[in-house]
Formats: sequence, C-alpha cells, structure tokens
Amino acid sequence: MHEFKFTGKNLYCEKVRVEDLARKYGTPLYVYSYQTLVDHFLKLKKAFHSVDPLICYSVKANSNLAILRSLVDKGAGLDIVSGGELSRAIKAGCPANRIVYASVGKTDKEIEEALRQRILFFNVESVPELENINRIARKLKVTAQVALRINPDVEPKTHKYITTGKLTNKFGIDFKSAQQIFLVRKALSNVKISGLHIHIGSQITESAPYVAAIGKMVDFIGRLRKEGIVLEYLNIGGGLGIVYDKETPQTADKFAAKVLPLLKKRGLKIIMEPGRFISGNAGILVTKVLYIKKTPLKKFVIVDAGMNDLIRPSLYAAFHSIVPLKSPGHRVTGSQEKVDIVGPICESGDFLAKARLMPKVREGEYLAVMSAGAYGFSMSSNYNSRRRAEEVLVVGSESFVIRKRDTWDDLVRNEIIPAFLLGL
Ligand code: PLP
Repeated sequence: MHEFKFTGKNLYCEKVRVEDLARKYGTPLYVYSYQTLVDHFLKLKKAFHSVDPLICYSVKANSNLAILRSLVDKGAGLDIVSGGELSRAIKAGCPANRIVYASVGKTDKEIEEALRQRILFFNVESVPELENINRIARKLKVTAQVALRINPDVEPKTHKYITTGKLTNKFGIDFKSAQQIFLVRKALSNVKISGLHIHIGSQITESAPYVAAIGKMVDFIGRLRKEGIVLEYLNIGGGLGIVYDKETPQTADKFAAKVLPLLKKRGLKIIMEPGRFISGNAGILVTKVLYIKKTPLKKFVIVDAGMNDLIRPSLYAAFHSIVPLKSPGHRVTGSQEKVDIVGPICESGDFLAKARLMPKVREGEYLAVMSAGAYGFSMSSNYNSRRRAEEVLVVGSESFVIRKRDTWDDLVRNEIIPAFLLGL
C-alpha cells in the first residue's frame, strides 16, 4: 500500500501532482511520500506490539537525513554499517542507545567512534573483529556491548546477491564457532556479549526462511541457557519483501503471526532491522523521455535517468514497474508496445526495463519508476560525471527538497590537479 495513486488522469503523491514536481524540480527526481514511509514503520510496530521491539530502520536502504529523522521521530532506532552511517544517524538526531552496528569490515576508527558515541551494540561478524573491539574498548577504558551475528545457514529464496544467511556467504558466525566464543568470553575483558543477531537476506516474501532461522536461534539460546549463559537481545534483522511486480509478500501482521510465538519463547528483547519494507514503496524515481529510438530489431525509450540513479535493474535484474505520469487510460494512443527503457550512460547494462510492454510514450513525457524508495538513491553514483538526482519529500499537499541536485562543482569538489601539471 502506498500514497502514489492516479486521480483522474494524473499520478499523485499524497495530494501533490507528480508532474508538477517534475516541472518544478527537474528530472531525474526522487519523490518520497512521508505518509507511506511512516505508515510502514507504524504497521510493523503495531503488528509486533506484544513484544515491544526496537525497530532499527536500516540506513543503507535510504539514508537521507530527512528520511531518517522522520522515522527516528516516530521512535525508530537505526541499523548502521559504517562510520558514515553513524555520522548520519547522529546528525538525524537518533539517540545512540537506539543504534546497532553491523558490517564484516569495521575499521579501528569506526569502532572507536561508535564506542565514543555509546551505541547500543555492535553486531559482530567474526572472531578477529570481536578481539579487535575488545582491544579498542580496553584502550578507551569502556565495555563494548555486542551481539554475535549468527549465520544460521538457511535458504531465503531470494536473489543470490541479496542472500546473506548461508554458510557460503561472508556474513556472520556459524553456531559451532559462536559456542566456542561463549566458552572463552571471559578472556575478553572489555566486551559484553548481550545478544544474538541474524539477517538472512533481502526481499524475502515468505515467512518460512525466518521461521527456520529464528527456530534455530531459539534452540541455540536454550542450549546456552543450560550452560548458564543468559542473553538480553535477539535481533532478527531485516529482509522483509515488498511488491515490485506480481509478488505477494507477507503483510506485517501475517509475518508477526508466524514468528511471534517463537520470539516469545525465550523472553528476550526483540530488535528488527527492516529497510526496504519501510522505504521501498515510499519512493519513486521520475524521469523524462529524451528520445524514442527505433533500430531494425528494437525500440528504445531513452530517458534521463540511468543506472547511476537506479542500479537495481542492472545489478540484480530487478523489476520496477514503470508508468507514464499521465494515466494510460487517458492517452490518445491506446495501444501498447514492447520497448527497452534505457538511460544515457555508456554501458549496455544501463537499462531500467527490458522488453517491457508499455503504453506508447512520446519524447518529453515523464515516467515514474515505482518502488524506488529503497536502494535507489542510496546506491546511486556520479558515474559518467552525472549529477546525482534531487530528492523531494511530499507531506500532504506540500513538497520539501531534502537533497539538492549535485552541481558541476560538487562533482570535482575533492579533486586536485598537482601544481606540476599546471606548470607552476
Ligand atoms: N540488516 C542488515 C545487517 C543488512 O545487511 C540489511 C541489508 O542488507 C538490512 C538489515 C536491511 O535489509 P532489508 O532492506 O531487506 O530489510
């Protein structure tokens, strides 16, 4: 469910006509619906109210400060994976005791900063990382609270690039090694292991992989308890899928109904790290048709947004529904045709859709790439020296710029021509 709907012949975001935004701010343009964003967070919170979880929105999905602030204001915590995301989280006003930090490659500097900020805990992904956190915490004379990220070896039935909970993936620690860590934990004087964490993948549409993974965790926690090891937190990660095409992902309520009985078994404080579920359908990418190009074999709709703006189709062959901002039902030409919708970048992999059945579109017309609120702008780049898109947040009948389009100067801000090349 989201607040991008056709009213009459125009696509609206909440109470604002999207075409008006495209004309006012230019394209490519990310448009977000505040209400959709907050609704998804609150839906999850309500579905799980009986365990009162800390829902740490996953910053990587969409890290704009205004998006983070909107959620933090409603009580969200944040799941971060780098020093940069920590800095964003603090700038967005997130209390440090609502921040959890994963990543297989935390640097000394990042660990030190997170300890200084007193985040809730690190999700630790390996033994050397655990030892390093202990060393840095000792140097700072603090105790680092950590959760061990377990790799439960389950199949999440999603794209291989976004599968993270199988033993062939680089993430987490297997059960046997985790058990070993608990045996030697006393040697780690400045680390307190207070929880366990899993994150098995992304765009998971069924509950079965979660039930399998959480079931394994519940058993493991039970075994630890028998050995006198009592934990405080169970972090079940993110990964909840959304509708891009014909998926029928579980709702928050259905997901809760399946996993709550397991979560309640051990009485631990529950943490969740949803990203896509919250921001995915809260955003679209608006792009303008530059040219219609016919070749002997194909018809290309060339638009002004490229893989640098939205890389998911190129990277994962991900599907995004693409609709003209003017409703197809109200178009002069009613017929449909198969086209490739491609960007201006010098790569054959630069496409938003391939062999897509579309209503006939014209040059100068605007299109909306739907469900682009997660892993859209946050994965964007300046490749081909393209300025990154402007981002706008719609709240009712108002729109707010939440990130200005890059300027040409932004593109070269940190670059330096050595004096010798300037003949100085
Ligand atoms: N938590 C961790 C540790 C992750 O790596 C990710 C995504 O990669 C997420 C949460 C968020 O995943 P999603 O956006 O699928 O909910």
